[in-house]
Amino acid sequence: MARVALVSGGTRGIGAAISVALKAAGYKVAANYAGNEERASAFHAETGIPVFRWDVSDYDACVEGLARVEAELGPVEVLVNNAGITRDNMFHKMTPQQWNDVIGTNLTGLFNMTHPVWSGMRQRGFGRIVNISSINGQRGQVGQVNYSAAKAGDLGFTKALALEGATRNITVNAICPGYIGTEMVRAIPENVLHEKILPQIPLGRLGEPEEIARCVVFLVSDEAGFITGSTLSANGGQYVAS
Ligand code: NDP
Repeated sequence: MARVALVSGGTRGIGAAISVALKAAGYKVAANYAGNEERASAFHAETGIPVFRWDVSDYDACVEGLARVEAELGPVEVLVNNAGITRDNMFHKMTPQQWNDVIGTNLTGLFNMTHPVWSGMRQRGFGRIVNISSINGQRGQVGQVNYSAAKAGDLGFTKALALEGATRNITVNAICPGYIGTEMVRAIPENVLHEKILPQIPLGRLGEPEEIARCVVFLVSDEAGFITGSTLSANGGQYVAS
């Protein structure tokens, strides 16, 4: 029986690559998204993967969304917490709204998405959770106090929850991508990318979304059953060089 995998923010960028890779690996995939209908419909038309709209920063919406996914596909055994946003600003200019938006989606979103699937995973004695953090949660980044705080929080969430899941055969791991060539990164001005960012990456290039997706496919597989509470860095060597 194919396992059901739910990917938050699974309709574009890294999340879309994760959804597609999980489907290719034999999972029944559900892709969640926030509101970009056009992209979600195009993704669904292209891949056949069902898409489900709700806001991961809203707990009740997550409970209701998960119920819709499970009614359609069956119990969620694999959860990839990938949805994320940036609201960059220097700290002295950062608004409470920018802080709350990023913490709400990138950190509280993990609680909101994981809590409703947790009891089912505990009862069934199996679960795989992968949280997409960031290199900028492992270190700091100028203009990203909100984002770095949330992504560092994701790593603490991963380690503590891994301890609670261990007795029920639920693994919880994090991936910290470096700069990956998605819209989030393409929004960075070209000169900043070439003069400031690429020189910091020893491999001299951006990562591909599919390279993160392959990490996810491994971490949720049976072969990765002894890996829990860990952080997998995929950044072209940038973290060790900084
Ligand atoms: P994109 O902006 O390309 O895609 C974001 C996805 O998340 C979209 O599907 C979007 O839905 C969804 N989303 C955003 N907010 C919410 C929400 N509140 N509820 C539900 N879905 C939501 O992002 P990336 O692919 O670049 O990033 C994916 C993850 O990887 C993020 O967590 C990011 O922080 C992390 N990351 C990215 C890096 C990079 O270089 N790109 C580097 C390190 C980490 P919709 O289409 O409807 O807006």
